[in-house]
Amino acid sequence: MSPGFFNEGDLIAVMTTQPFASTLDYRAPEGGCLLGAFVEVPLGPRKVLGVVWGVGVGDFDISKIRAVIRVLDAVPMRDELRSFLERAGNYTLTPLPAMLRLCTRAPGLGDPPSMRKVYRSGLSEPDRMTDARTRVLEVLRDMGGLSLTLKELAETAGVTPSVIKGLVKLGAVSEEESPRDTAFAHLDPDLDGKALTGDQAAGAEALMCGVRSGVYGTTLLRGVTGSGKTEVYLEAVAECLRQGRQALVLLPEIALSAEFLNRVEARFGARPAEWHSGVTVTERRRVWKMVGEGRAQLVVGARSALFLPFQHLGLVVVDEEHDTSYKQEEGVLYNARDMAVLRAAICGARVVLASATPSLESWANAEAGKYDRIELTARFGAAVMPVMRTIDMRAEDLPRDRWVSPTLQRAVAKRLEKGEQSLLFLNRRGYAPVTICRACGHQIACDHCDARMVEHRFLKRLVCHQCGESKPVPDVCPSCEAEHKLAAVGPGVERLGEEVTALFPEARVAVLSSDMYGSARTMKAEIEAIAKGTADIIIGTQLVAKGHNFPLLTLVGVIDADLGLQGSDLRAAERTFQLMRQVAGRAGRAEKPGEAVMQTYQPEHPVIRAILSGDEESFWRSEAAERRAAGVPPYGRMAGIILSSTDVQEVFDLGNAMARQDAALRRIGAQVFGPAPAPVARVRGRHRVRLLVKAPKGVALQAALAEWTGQFRLRGQLRLAIDIDPQSF
Ligand code: ADP
Ligand code: ZN
Repeated sequence: MSPGFFNEGDLIAVMTTQPFASTLDYRAPEGGCLLGAFVEVPLGPRKVLGVVWGVGVGDFDISKIRAVIRVLDAVPMRDELRSFLERAGNYTLTPLPAMLRLCTRAPGLGDPPSMRKVYRSGLSEPDRMTDARTRVLEVLRDMGGLSLTLKELAETAGVTPSVIKGLVKLGAVSEEESPRDTAFAHLDPDLDGKALTGDQAAGAEALMCGVRSGVYGTTLLRGVTGSGKTEVYLEAVAECLRQGRQALVLLPEIALSAEFLNRVEARFGARPAEWHSGVTVTERRRVWKMVGEGRAQLVVGARSALFLPFQHLGLVVVDEEHDTSYKQEEGVLYNARDMAVLRAAICGARVVLASATPSLESWANAEAGKYDRIELTARFGAAVMPVMRTIDMRAEDLPRDRWVSPTLQRAVAKRLEKGEQSLLFLNRRGYAPVTICRACGHQIACDHCDARMVEHRFLKRLVCHQCGESKPVPDVCPSCEAEHKLAAVGPGVERLGEEVTALFPEARVAVLSSDMYGSARTMKAEIEAIAKGTADIIIGTQLVAKGHNFPLLTLVGVIDADLGLQGSDLRAAERTFQLMRQVAGRAGRAEKPGEAVMQTYQPEHPVIRAILSGDEESFWRSEAAERRAAGVPPYGRMAGIILSSTDVQEVFDLGNAMARQDAALRRIGAQVFGPAPAPVARVRGRHRVRLLVKAPKGVALQAALAEWTGQFRLRGQLRLAIDIDPQSF
């Protein structure tokens, strides 16, 4: 047992956020320090952040060991979080400092509380309005009574601070002193919730019972879109709050909508803490602190919220658990859904995985009895699942560069007559996926990546969807220098928007694609407006499929249902099935029944037929059988090794050497495949190859991977990243 407190001068081990694999020794400072304390320590000439991790190792010249500079004003990290970081680090083969950085992303961590000036709407209106003044007042109105700092307000409104100061003098903006870290309003679990249906009530009771048990357990909450999964898991949150424990609801970033927060507020009478990329620096600091002090009862956040320093976490909900955005693909490669289960298991919390179309992994875990299962089979109220059918594109008469078939066109026209909304779904951002020279056939590609540049007419640029690099659309072909020969090939949502506007000139058409809005906030505002009926036809990418509610929508048209089925990825069927069912679920949520049609060139494809029939169990079963036969997840284990370098020869040489010297892998019965070009073969000028390792279940895969990769030195520009449970294989 390690002691909980160290006296001044004791030898302690500190884990810093600097890239060393292990702890460094220090002396406890004057006044001593607690195990888990956040501290500032000297490192060479610098001061760095660290956490007291245990008793010092003492394998170093004792007389040279330096003292901790100061203990920061933050609640010490609990044992439970430290062991979570260790185990998550072992699982993902990530050094602990990198894991630690995931939970110290709060700016000003440990600074003493201080006061600051904040601004909110004032009482009077200025006599003379300018554009700048209007923007400031609009931003404050949007905040609904919440206040902003001078810097935040100036940046959001796009004005200089003097404009705001001017408005303060006129009384149109009020300025006040406020402590930086105010507590969150109390959430009351005992306010009246909605009256649940029989199925919902039974599901809620089972979840609440789990929360009351106080021991770890995971439940897969499955139910079609609109069946009330959210209502049900909010009751589990309520029970968790009644127990005095903290709850965390994870959502895919894009689904973190005002609509969701409003629902939480309606249920509990106050807003929860939020944690995602749109949260200001000041707010992050406050959330981190309140969570650490146990004073934030509920956090609603994106995947990184999993690394907040909860004091007594009782429940983690992972909504849309199948969503691929839970996998972090840069830096530390982790899947937040799996890490949520790990964290909960360590601290004795419950997990709810909610989805209309669970991942095959979770489905298999439920089948195997590792997870409990709750099913909601009916949509709430009068809403029924949409009628689904296909449009056989081989039989449709469609001119070149047109994507809306006559049959689909008639279906949309019918909605327009009735004043109902239609959604046309195409999972391709931009105007056209390919820009080709009609003289020489050259396709414009990114200079740094192995990807075609995608034309975005809205931005008036060609954009690389891999690295974000963009450039103006050239007049002459970069290869043969022919003038005005560059042509757009294939559809993106912007181009589809043009086609639809031409087909229905009197309709209001809205194109919803993440790159068309300046910020996540304006995008969310637009989505809310559309939900209220400001558009007749919505054209959208994947982002409309996620968690948004469009009550007036009765038709979903999938432009290219075959898109996801191309390629050799073993997960393609699962992905397409999930996405199509998810998109279709947008139709007919209210009293009006919905219809979902899919344009396809292969209506007899088994995946397309499974989507139509909606017979999920048999789809999962046949998918599961295939995966089992192939020995891949969830019936086997996979890891990807991504090697990258600016020098293409160098990466292949290393890849080949690794593939040959695979004794450490063979010993556990694992096989290595590759090297092959990675799913994205070149990014930001770096060439990437991937080796795939396939291992049976139940072997020590991580240890074997560490031993195997450890044999190779990474010279020069070479980098190696290990991706446990890769998304594609
Ligand atoms: P899901 O999360 O499964 O998509 P939601 O919880 O969002 O479903 O429910 C869909 C809609 O039906 C929401 O507008 C929700 O408020 C409403 N709803 C669901 N169950 C009830 C209920 N028991 N009483 C009132 N409204 C409900
Ligand atoms: Zn690029």
